[in-house]
Amino acid sequence: MPISEGFSRRLTPLLTELVAAYGTPFHLYDARGIVDTYRAMTDAFAGEPYRQYFAVKALPNPHVLALLREQGSGLDCASPVELELARGLGVGPGDTVFTSNNTAVSEYRLALATGSLVTFDDRSFLDKADPLPPTVAFRVSPHGLSAGSRLMGDARATKFGVPVSELVDAYREAKARGATSFGIHGMICANELDVDRAVRAAVDVIELGAHVADRAGIELDYVNVGGGLGIPYRPEDRPLDFQVYADAIVAARRRFFPRSTPRILTECGRYVTGPHGVLVTSVINRCSKGREIVGVDASMSALMRPGFYGAYHHVSLPFAEGRPESAYDVVGALCENMDKFAVDRPLPEPREGDIALVHDTGAHGHAMGFTYNGRLRPAELLLTEDGDVVEIRRAETFADYVATTAPQPVPVLAAPAHRHAAPIA
Ligand SMILES: *Cc1c(COP(=O)(O)O)cnc(C)c1O
Repeated sequence: MPISEGFSRRLTPLLTELVAAYGTPFHLYDARGIVDTYRAMTDAFAGEPYRQYFAVKALPNPHVLALLREQGSGLDCASPVELELARGLGVGPGDTVFTSNNTAVSEYRLALATGSLVTFDDRSFLDKADPLPPTVAFRVSPHGLSAGSRLMGDARATKFGVPVSELVDAYREAKARGATSFGIHGMICANELDVDRAVRAAVDVIELGAHVADRAGIELDYVNVGGGLGIPYRPEDRPLDFQVYADAIVAARRRFFPRSTPRILTECGRYVTGPHGVLVTSVINRCSKGREIVGVDASMSALMRPGFYGAYHHVSLPFAEGRPESAYDVVGALCENMDKFAVDRPLPEPREGDIALVHDTGAHGHAMGFTYNGRLRPAELLLTEDGDVVEIRRAETFADYVATTAPQPVPVLAAPAHRHAAPIA
């Protein structure tokens, strides 16, 4: 969807001067939009025990994470590097959740040292976890009517979570090992825009949590309903009503937990930052090869979603209004035919030198970038709440590209013929 009116009003007057001064491509994020979205989420749960943990993987820039932290947001980490990022921001106990998959014991220890609320993705890990975390939580496998989606995959073939049929046993086992505090985690939707389906997914986890707690004879401190709320990428998409989502969750918690008040946690990434980013590029080529092609100076390495998932991202030419419209393929420079930001997209006639915006790149954009073909990741800029534009990550350079190569080959293992036996005395 085209960026919000507010973001557009803040960005458009700066754009020509910014591009002239800084060059393209770059991602630019709107601090005001991010903060306002976070506040609207917490306002929707006002008066209820609730905390949102931003999914770091969606936009792992420490400046954006710090902005959210200042507002009170927690952070959702799923790898040691994400935990290190969170530690660098001075997180305290309970400020992070660690919801990983296929975890190594060393990662688990780091999560405990960081004070994370740890979610066990599989039961077998309980045997390896010593000591147990202060609060034991399991992630439940996708289940119920809301399970399964294009991004999450087939629920029956999932690699995530503990099967529903084993949950009671898993909690009993943790209890037998001395655990006294418990949580549950379930994330059964991805990029879900339909509020009824999103509600059903969350309510399924709350209901299951109550049922399992009852059967295992435990109390739940929290129910983490994960992330996965969608944003309107297409112009015809309507945004999800977060207040409706929050109200339904609170009602379900009251209904299924009449005698206790487990906290509600969310781990939204996309919903918080997705609409508040754009990839700013310039048109560098125009040609016709049976198709009308517009080449821009960014590639799929700056935004993988269209090429990888066929995901729709709105593209606009903010200074081309009034020109005749027709359909174009908007392409990057990778030696991969999938390197296209848009296919057959109606646009006002693009000309070389035009600024082109790819919208909704605030989540899973730069973060999913890569350096294949030596097309390096672009910079990230932030439009601050005061209206300044600041660089929060520079563009990668050739030096970055080769930084991990060894200056001289480093011996690792010699071929048997090169291993000289000690001389016989
Ligand atoms: C990816 C992920 C999230 C965030 O997903 P969004 O679609 O960005 O909201 C949250 N929790 C877990 C466990 C995830 O894997």
